[in-house]
Amino acid sequence: MHGVPHLGNFAGSVLPAELYHRYLDLVGKENEFVCGGDVHGTPLELEAMERDKDPREIKDKQNKKVKEAYESLNVDFSIFSDTHSDYNRKQTHDMFEELYCTGLIHEKTQNMAYCINDERFLPDRYVEGECPHCGGLARGDQCDDCGKLVQPSEIKNLECQICGENNIEFRDTDHLFLDLTAYKDELKDWVENEEPVPENMKEQVLHDIDEAEDRSITRDQNWGFEIPVERVNQRIEEENLEVDKLDAEKYDNKVLYVWFDAPIGYIGFTRELYDDKDKWKKHWNQDAETVYSIGKDNTIFHTVIWPTMLLGASNEDIEYSLPSYEFIQQYLMWEEGAFSKSRNRGVFIDEAVKHYPADYWRFYIAKMLPTNHDTNFSWKDFESEVNNVLNDTVGNFVNRT
Ligand SMILES: [Zn+2]
Ligand SMILES: [Zn+2]
Repeated sequence: MHGVPHLGNFAGSVLPAELYHRYLDLVGKENEFVCGGDVHGTPLELEAMERDKDPREIKDKQNKKVKEAYESLNVDFSIFSDTHSDYNRKQTHDMFEELYCTGLIHEKTQNMAYCINDERFLPDRYVEGECPHCGGLARGDQCDDCGKLVQPSEIKNLECQICGENNIEFRDTDHLFLDLTAYKDELKDWVENEEPVPENMKEQVLHDIDEAEDRSITRDQNWGFEIPVERVNQRIEEENLEVDKLDAEKYDNKVLYVWFDAPIGYIGFTRELYDDKDKWKKHWNQDAETVYSIGKDNTIFHTVIWPTMLLGASNEDIEYSLPSYEFIQQYLMWEEGAFSKSRNRGVFIDEAVKHYPADYWRFYIAKMLPTNHDTNFSWKDFESEVNNVLNDTVGNFVNRT
């Protein structure tokens, strides 16, 4: 997450999880509420480059801001960390090794933008230009204006975000891909029988499982976790496995992509919480119940990619449990439009708590949770709900009891 979160972020993932955590505490069920920032994206590396800083310094500052914002709304985390920790690195490498050695990760060649000036590939948001559909600003693989997915090779007047020039050509580069087709039957059974997603999302999730293909999990950049070539190759040799060894030189300048290690962060945070003592496993093995809270834009990562990783990375050491339930929120709209950081629409948490007490926000956002459909924040409604329901009805009720 980039910068201070807004109330839409609070409604979309953090508040539902926190309310569930408080409920479990109330009924005396042992539970942990783990959360943190996924910090390996290209925007952070770009910012570090622009400001000539270490990306770690920027991620520490940003993550601190996010944590403080949620704590100002009295969010009761068991732990709030980020995905660039040694705990998460270890968990990521454990899972990568298992997935690679069982044949679920394989190499493919991609044609990618390459800056001749900077002598490097330009993944994701390292390139910008004119959208071929609407003429708006296309960044990486998506247009900011019309929202359509685009191929970087279709973007007009492609510009390198490092040097700002157009000296770009397309070159082949090898990357690693995760096979998302291996467990389609298991995933469909899980969705049908375990009911892990809200009814209104079920059809889309089954469709996504059907459509899933391979997905690239590495990038030509420096910021991120290195690929554990040595330990993988060692195991292939020791166990005489029938998968190709990784080319150490080739993968030296590549890292794992943010969306590979981001969901692994849930386990990384748990390992961090327990200082890596084996106790973390009881929250992730077959006896555990794992409940997630996400916004609908993150659905495919939690219903196709992450469950595939959990199934594929299970071994005799730990058999991971699939998600028991996922709260998937629709959007909280802002006065009939979308919250937007770039367009500065909506209320950011640091501003919100300057004007009203945390409990006003917690009450109103909890009431407006976009659980089955988008809901709309309006100042008028906020004032009337806080005055009439929270202060009069609930306030009187609490005073009388
Ligand atoms: Zn467009
Ligand atoms: Zn360049």
